[in-house]
Amino acid sequence: MRKLKKLNKFLLKGQEVSYDTLHKYIKQNLEKPIYCQFCRQVKKLDLANKSGNYLEDLSDWLYLCRKCHVRQDNRLIIYLNTKLTLAQVAFIRKEYKPRIISQRKLAKMFNVSKTAISDIVNNRTWNYL
Ligand SMILES: [Zn+2]
Repeated sequence: MRKLKKLNKFLLKGQEVSYDTLHKYIKQNLEKPIYCQFCRQVKKLDLANKSGNYLEDLSDWLYLCRKCHVRQDNRLIIYLNTKLTLAQVAFIRKEYKPRIISQRKLAKMFNVSKTAISDIVNNRTWNYL
């Protein structure tokens, strides 16, 4: 498995990748912010997985407060399901100009749905940014 190649360097050869080991690896490599990456409040943070696939990829993980970690609202779901980083969302907000840089163009640029872009530019999601 290509995705686990890098992780294997961290593991002893032949060792099975357990959830705990993966968690430990991510914790060691992903810098913990002072605030929740969703609600931006300074709270005790948990490591959360975005895709549900528990990838070795650091971008598949984020730190959330307990409340956001268990919360299931639409904003959080869209956030967790999108491939966009916070920086990309900020870029989309900044660059979107109706009739010049269209939502369709941005969607193509970031390989996401036009709906996702529309939600971002209309502040339906990510409005904590
Ligand atoms: Zn939070």
